[in-house]
Amino acid sequence: MSDVRNVIIIGSGPAGYTAALYTARASLKPLVFEGSVTAGGALMNTTDVENFPGFRDGIMGPDLMDNMRAQAERFGAELIPDDVVSVDLSEDIKTVTDSSGTVHRAKAVIVTTGSQHRKLGLPREDELSGRGVSWCATCDGFFFKDQNIAVIGGGDTAMEEATFLSRFATSVTVVHRRDTLRASKAMQDRAIADPKISFIWDSEVTEIHGDNKLSSLTLKDVKTGETSELPATGLFIAIGHDPRTELFKGQLDLDDEGYLKVASPSTRTNLPGVFAAGDVVDHTYRQAITAAGTGCSAALDAERYLAALA
Ligand code: FAD
Repeated sequence: MSDVRNVIIIGSGPAGYTAALYTARASLKPLVFEGSVTAGGALMNTTDVENFPGFRDGIMGPDLMDNMRAQAERFGAELIPDDVVSVDLSEDIKTVTDSSGTVHRAKAVIVTTGSQHRKLGLPREDELSGRGVSWCATCDGFFFKDQNIAVIGGGDTAMEEATFLSRFATSVTVVHRRDTLRASKAMQDRAIADPKISFIWDSEVTEIHGDNKLSSLTLKDVKTGETSELPATGLFIAIGHDPRTELFKGQLDLDDEGYLKVASPSTRTNLPGVFAAGDVVDHTYRQAITAAGTGCSAALDAERYLAALA
């Protein structure tokens, strides 16, 4: 049986590494499970990050995450590039099992497992990600000045992205597979009234084209089966996110969309000694800086919880 740690952190994006940095500097010797596939989190899959404060000229996503990792390690965080496959968070001493079946024990756990944006499932989607294909207008909109952009989706996020992008773009075409929008009336009205935004109804994207950069989409009318080409150098996919909370079902309270619930403005979950931060909690902001900010809050909440136990 392993020693009982002060704190285990599950997840290694901006939230996890920031929680690791703070708990390490508080001499709590955190153990961090980074995940086996994308240690470093969502920004490992992107290029320029221009909106993380402190980098005047921007920084590449993987470089930013390497720096965060190194900074946490420098103060004594122990990092393991492995997945947590099961947890028992109900007792005072929590257990976390890794993919080799080893059980790790801790008095506090911080969950920072992030969320996964939904993909269209098209063959070239990953290849053209960061080359015209994006999931975040706040992050990437600025790169699409004076371009023709397509936004996929019909909910609030799609309308918000379309409206935001119309500030930069020459045109924004919303492609929706139904003939009505799911978005709230206010969001719809704003998008419909925007002279740069147009709509293509009852249509799906079936192919995306471009050599090194997106150039056009093939659309299929779901009612008639007819196909058409839409020239576009930007494609924003706004069909939802799936928070990575499968592990915690039945133990931690989740909201209707599967995000972890916390006692805002703290990062406390429904179980004592378990804290959550970053995109796994966040429907709204989903930015590296907000994930890092709540990762810091979770570390401070965990520190206070551990101090009260002593
Ligand atoms: P994540 O970064 O998603 O990290 C979660 C980590 O937890 C992952 O490494 C995952 O492997 C790990 N994990 C999950 N389950 C387990 C498990 N069971 N065991 C162990 N580890 C696990 N934001 C900006 O502010 N600016 C940008 O320019 C920007 N560009 C983006 C570009 C792209 C393509 C994407 C996808 C996102 C972008 N974002 C940007 C958003 C930003 O990346 C996220 O808001 C941020 O990464 C969320 O941080 P997080 O720590 O909550 O989660």
